[in-house]
Amino acid sequence: MCGIVGYIGHRDALPILLNGLKRLEYRGYDSAGVAVHDGQNLHVFKKKGKVKDLENELKDKKIKGNIGIGHTRWATHGEPNDVNAHPHVSQNGLFVIIHNGIIENYKQLRNFLKDKGYQFKSETDTEVLVNLIEYMYLESETDAEMAVRLALSEVIGAYAIVVLAINEPEKLIAARKSSPLVIGIGKGEFFLASDATPIVEYTDQVVYLDNNNMAILKEDEFILKNLANERLNPIIQKIEFDLVSIEKNGYDHFMLKEIFEQPVAIQDTMRGRVTSDASMIRLGGITSVLKKILAAKRFVIVGCGTSWHAGLVGEYLLENLARIPVEVEYGSEFRYRNPIINSDDIVIAISQSGETADTLAAVELAKKNNATVLGICNVVGSSIARETDAGVYTHAGPEIGVASTKAFTAQVTVLTMLSLMLSQEKGTLPYSSFKALVNELQQIPDKISKVLEQNDYIKELAYLYKDARNFLYLGRGYLYPVALEGALKLKEISYIHAEGYPAAEMKHGPIALIDENMPVVFLATKDQIYDKVLSNIEEVKSRGGRVIAIVTEGDDTVIRMVDHVIEVPPVSEALAPLVTVVPLQLLAYYAAVLRGNNVDQPRNLAKSVTVE
Ligand code: GLU
Repeated sequence: MCGIVGYIGHRDALPILLNGLKRLEYRGYDSAGVAVHDGQNLHVFKKKGKVKDLENELKDKKIKGNIGIGHTRWATHGEPNDVNAHPHVSQNGLFVIIHNGIIENYKQLRNFLKDKGYQFKSETDTEVLVNLIEYMYLESETDAEMAVRLALSEVIGAYAIVVLAINEPEKLIAARKSSPLVIGIGKGEFFLASDATPIVEYTDQVVYLDNNNMAILKEDEFILKNLANERLNPIIQKIEFDLVSIEKNGYDHFMLKEIFEQPVAIQDTMRGRVTSDASMIRLGGITSVLKKILAAKRFVIVGCGTSWHAGLVGEYLLENLARIPVEVEYGSEFRYRNPIINSDDIVIAISQSGETADTLAAVELAKKNNATVLGICNVVGSSIARETDAGVYTHAGPEIGVASTKAFTAQVTVLTMLSLMLSQEKGTLPYSSFKALVNELQQIPDKISKVLEQNDYIKELAYLYKDARNFLYLGRGYLYPVALEGALKLKEISYIHAEGYPAAEMKHGPIALIDENMPVVFLATKDQIYDKVLSNIEEVKSRGGRVIAIVTEGDDTVIRMVDHVIEVPPVSEALAPLVTVVPLQLLAYYAAVLRGNNVDQPRNLAKSVTVE
């Protein structure tokens, strides 16, 4: 949550900061602010609303300066307003800070500072931290770097911060614990950001700050230390994506672009991992722990939101194809319910950003209990990717739209490859069946392209249903998690209430909701339980429900039973989630657009949930 940026160098800082904030706005967008130092004075501007509003306000102001920081907020402490917006300046004006995360013991620290005469303008935890830094600076008569270190040693919680000290205006001080921070290395300049997207247009050389690391940046000097004040060697890495991949490319929204990118994204996920003759799958990132994987008695998959749904698909895949018992857990539940974790368990953490706080905490817990932990992440170099023993990147390319689409299908592709690979290692699937499925997996990108050709038709359907107040999504087997994901997409961006259910479970409760005002989306492709799903459709129709069904091309039964069908190419049931989720993404997208919502930045949400 929240995006932070910083710049120090020879260029004008303000345009770089504003540009960076726009690129990070998917992370938080309730308020934004910047602070620029012009060599003499500090200029701070902050405002409730979008980065655009801030930019408009700054249009006529002449703020020149080569050092500055910026923030786009997703409020955790205090409502979104001008005062709570970042940057926050300390009481005596000696320090200014931007912060992503939560200071959990902020109340105690605030009381402590109040006793020392500090007064607070905002309701944020962040203002407490900047005042604590100033207090340490004045009390200990030390330099800014040490003051930050002393203050952080008192802090419980999560943070990525960038601090500018008025008395030392030639440097920026950055630190992180649990929230992400990347430093871009230019020639005589440095760029700081929550992720690499604002940096890639200036340099492809970056350092990902580790937990408990501090960076002290001057125009021509990069000092990396840990919080114990020991020097460290920065490890410079190369950003793997380019500028084009983080722009809209003519699409109205990032989400639509990302839905349409799925054929290519899935190809990228499979590249180098599936042999072209479909004879073998090799996931290089997990070979080092393969023995442990094969010896495991069970897998536990942890994730949140869409990643949790991908995990549920993974459960069906791993149990069916590789006969490995799987449990799927919400990261947020797992970490606090004292779960039983054994040293021969494999825990798989799924997260697009690799920064999801609840999933990261689950990883830490699993590691503490000596389980082998694998990561399935999209963002290279992210915290989960680094904290886990081994893993598989999805390589779907940057996902900017808050509602996840291509990340989901890429995660499911990884889980499919993993299950198929393990089916051969464990001998649970005949080679001929394995080969047939791998062959089919390679055709999935083309099948998704065929679904995408129905874009206009799905838009028309969305128009018919955009004013509905509730929706039900029903599916069985592999398509039950897809029903959950379809409902989540609709909720997230159209704000229409939607529930996903196993189709047969409907009669145990939700059937009471069915009437002509309740559209029901059925996932009814031809599979083993197709006939059972037909009965469930009958149950809804006989109670007056309106039904949209996702069916296999050429199905002439369902079409006679329901109000509308969306056809998808025939596909084996194990691979059906990859194809059937796509029309649901488009349906949610167009419902939201037609209702006039901001699809890429839905209310109350933010991408990359780095707070608990
Ligand atoms: N806790 C801080 C606030 O509420 C930062 C939240 C964020 O990460 O955006 O302002």
